[in-house]
Amino acid sequence: MNEFDLIRRYFAGRGVRRADVPLGIGDDAALLAPPAGQTLATTVDTLHSGVHFAADIPPADLGHKALAVNLSDLAAMGAEPAWATLALSLPEADEAWLGAFADGFFALAERFGVQLVGGDTTRGPLSVAVQVQGFVPADAALRRSGARSGDHVFVTGHLGDAGAGLAIEQGRLALSGPPAAALLARLHRPTPRIGAGLALRGLASAAIDVSDGLAQDLGHILAASGVGAVLEADALPLSDALLASGIERPWRLAAAAGDDYELCFTAPADAAPGVADALDCPVTRIGHITAEPGLRWRDTAGQVVEPPPRGWDHFARDEA
Ligand code: ADP
Ligand code: MG
Repeated sequence: MNEFDLIRRYFAGRGVRRADVPLGIGDDAALLAPPAGQTLATTVDTLHSGVHFAADIPPADLGHKALAVNLSDLAAMGAEPAWATLALSLPEADEAWLGAFADGFFALAERFGVQLVGGDTTRGPLSVAVQVQGFVPADAALRRSGARSGDHVFVTGHLGDAGAGLAIEQGRLALSGPPAAALLARLHRPTPRIGAGLALRGLASAAIDVSDGLAQDLGHILAASGVGAVLEADALPLSDALLASGIERPWRLAAAAGDDYELCFTAPADAAPGVADALDCPVTRIGHITAEPGLRWRDTAGQVVEPPPRGWDHFARDEA
């Protein structure tokens, strides 16, 4: 099977066909027709074997995740997904692997109406780069820079699940049964919060997706907005699976671990009561924005608590 057979067999002519794609896979470049009055939101993320995923990851999970992490960036901008390109570097053309990878990719692409319009296929160490484009009116995009003192801070879904899943995968956390399966699924099959991102247009003052951990990612909003925040450690939304994992002080994992791909956003106090009804997923208020810079943590009694670590290597030390 040569490169062109591979593209034809696994990637060309599959999935949704959008009216705004006059020419998709097959020529030197795709021709795309963005709608009038919208701006293009574009983002790319590369996943390397051994760095961003374990080499033995089920290929369908990798196909899903490579697209999901990019759609999550569009969600965080309040953009509506439209197009994707896929650059694949493969050590060999393993047909079973490619079939499963493409199935995982296209299942998620179809769910969000995304058309694969081009890409690149090369031989080399396993890596996957997906670029996605979506539409958003320029003045409706959710930026990192809009948080203001007094705004409330929210997060969708649950935090820490993917971090616990990673600990299981790496043998740092001994857990089996349904909770382990649920945590691993959150690591391998994140759900991009596209519906929430669209609903937050005109409602959120700033947004980011939680890819590197809440503390770090909210830190980007705080820096871009020139503000600080107080978060309530006990308010962080924890899943039943995480609570069943036996991890001590799970809020610290929820605050520090990455890969959950939830949205963290801020909204003005007068808009905050409407947030839960506007979203198609669970959402939790976890704190508020302050004029004083920096991120501070409190417990329910308002007492200062020790800040969580930043990043999963610190988590590894915690668990050791
Ligand atoms: P060129 O050499 O002109 O860049 P290629 O031979 O790399 O073209 O690719 C031929 C066509 O197949 C192009 O339309 C390209 O976008 C598409 N393509 C290549 N690899 C992939 C892939 N992994 N997924 C989707 N489309 C791909
Ligand atoms: Mg060419």
